[in-house]
Amino acid sequence: MNIKDIKEVAIIGGGPGGLMLGLLLQQRDIPFTIYEKGTQDVNADRGGSLDIHDDSGQLALQQAGIQEDFHRLARFDGEDTKVVGKDGTVYYTEVVDEDELGGRPEIDRGELCDLILQHIDDTHIQYHYQFESMETLDSGRRRVHFTNGETTDADLVVGVDGAFSKVRPYLSTQEIEYTGISMVELNVVDVEHEHPELLAYNQRGKMMALGGDRALLAQLNGDGRIKVYVSYRMEQAKLDEYKAMSIADLKAQVEHDFADWAPELQRYITEAGDDILLRRIYRLPIGFKWQTQGDVTLLGDAAHLMSPFAGEGVNAALYDAYLFDQALAEADELGDVVRQYEEAMYAASAQSAQESQDNLELMFSESAAEKMGDFFKSVLDDTED
Ligand SMILES: Cc1cc2nc3c(=O)[nH]c(=O)nc-3n(C[C@H](O)[C@H](O)[C@H](O)COP(=O)(O)OP(=O)(O)OC[C@H]3O[C@@H](n4cnc5c(N)ncnc54)[C@H](O)[C@@H]3O)c2cc1C
Repeated sequence: MNIKDIKEVAIIGGGPGGLMLGLLLQQRDIPFTIYEKGTQDVNADRGGSLDIHDDSGQLALQQAGIQEDFHRLARFDGEDTKVVGKDGTVYYTEVVDEDELGGRPEIDRGELCDLILQHIDDTHIQYHYQFESMETLDSGRRRVHFTNGETTDADLVVGVDGAFSKVRPYLSTQEIEYTGISMVELNVVDVEHEHPELLAYNQRGKMMALGGDRALLAQLNGDGRIKVYVSYRMEQAKLDEYKAMSIADLKAQVEHDFADWAPELQRYITEAGDDILLRRIYRLPIGFKWQTQGDVTLLGDAAHLMSPFAGEGVNAALYDAYLFDQALAEADELGDVVRQYEEAMYAASAQSAQESQDNLELMFSESAAEKMGDFFKSVLDDTED
């Protein structure tokens, strides 16, 4: 089918990847609808601050014409970085110059999604539409069934429905794998007024305290809270024990787990509120591919779920949308567009996934803080050369 003849692209999932793909299709006048299982504010309080890279995520924003708006919202001082050992030894600290525009500014996930969303005509988005199944019609088109009983027919279905994608099984039997890392996500709110000492210690960006099989990964968000990912290398089933605890017991457990860490690090736990989320971190195998089908494909986490330890996931999702747009500019037949997109996406995402896995191994190893500190120093030396 020639891309000029496309009557409908069904994008399943309205996270950053699905929204960016929608905006880029809108600019090319290709008919599409984003089907999102959640509500309009689905992205508002999901996940924390994200750094958007100038060589991947930002290329998509630029292509969509919203790079300047992004620069206005982005926090360039959010690139402050600190690497600490469990005994409090600081192995690396960097306070960026606010006037210097770095290549990886921070933005809250909700703000990023709103920025993209506000440029998409709202007739292109349907909320409370949860993908359930898909069939091929005699005409060759795909019919998508949603859990609300509705259906839609499409020439192309793009699964951008995240880690637990329901579209992925139509392309592959590959299951996601547990990385061995689980997290207790804590929030210290209004740090400027309520926890100024913690803010001074944390600086305006990321603080990574690494101690072998545990880590405290903290990040100042644009809404004034510090999000703390209390991370453990743990057996998959172990998190269920934590899930079964009351909030008070869970907090006491986490305090106990980090009782031998430096007092300034323990504050990230003791000063946190009761807003707690437990997560297992999953991944797809590096280099995951499928037999191309021409009218169904995957984008973002659905295509290449990786651990968050290189900060690549959202960048890879936005970059996929950029690659899809590039394929549309270069090929006329839908099957060729999909194939070209997939090849480019496989190459780029394998690299990001490898980096994420390498970082996971490094961050949860012996002397991790020292090694991570050396890594950041070497990056700084390279940029100064
Ligand atoms: C703890 C943690 C920290 C992270 N930190 C970072 C970071 O610092 N930097 C970074 O780059 N990345 C980070 N990531 C990864 C990043 O959040 C993801 O890579 C990114 O959100 C992927 O975007 P996506 O659009 O592919 O999928 P998602 O953001 O998962 O969006 C998928 C959307 O699909 C919808 N959906 C799901 N199922 C269905 C269905 N059946 N029907 C319809 N809709 C459906 C969901 O509601 C959701 O809105 C982190 C992830 C985690 C877990």
